[in-house]
Amino acid sequence: MLQRTLAVGPFQANCHLVACPKSGELAIIDPGEEPAQILEAVMALEKAAGLPLKPKFFLHTHAHLDHISAAKELLKSFSAKVALHAADEPIWRGLRDQARAFGLEYGDPASIDLSLEDGQELSLGALKITVIHTPGHSPGGVCFLVTEEGAKSVLYTGDTLFLGSIGRADLWGGDMDQLVRSIQEKLLVLDPATIVKCGHGPDTTIGRERLENPYL
Ligand SMILES: [Zn+2]
Ligand SMILES: [Zn+2]
Repeated sequence: MLQRTLAVGPFQANCHLVACPKSGELAIIDPGEEPAQILEAVMALEKAAGLPLKPKFFLHTHAHLDHISAAKELLKSFSAKVALHAADEPIWRGLRDQARAFGLEYGDPASIDLSLEDGQELSLGALKITVIHTPGHSPGGVCFLVTEEGAKSVLYTGDTLFLGSIGRADLWGGDMDQLVRSIQEKLLVLDPATIVKCGHGPDTTIGRERLENPYL
């Protein structure tokens, strides 16, 4: 798979580009901030891949401001489906209030086109993206498992699981017990070789977090 990650905005949230090397279909996971920088990264990936990329989805792991704020601006350049789990929609609609809580001033978010559900499968050319509902950091938090024949699977965890840490549960609708349960029951059961790309900070693997994460 074609892949690139860039950290954007004041919270340095990771925005991930994932594309099929055959069809060029592209998903942007968590277009959080700095739309111009994301656009630049898409063009750089296109150049490196040597084929035109076709944006298909904006996939959101959850509705916190640092993961969603660039979608509206990017829709001026791309026509892609904006996807979120329904349980995070109230948080999404409250983007202005979220920003105010951090002393920031944001506009309204994009409108949602696709409601994500646990177990749902999305196709991105030769790649398969499976939605895993992992509530706890937020009620509608999801992870995206990207699989490709003959390659290691990659799990995009948003703010649910980090290298050596887990998400906070003190924000809108967060629940620590639920978060730990989600990770243990739905993520740690995956193949230990699965690469984990987090919503903030560096990558890890399922195997490493199973052994070393002090919160689990
Ligand atoms: Zn978050
Ligand atoms: Zn975040």
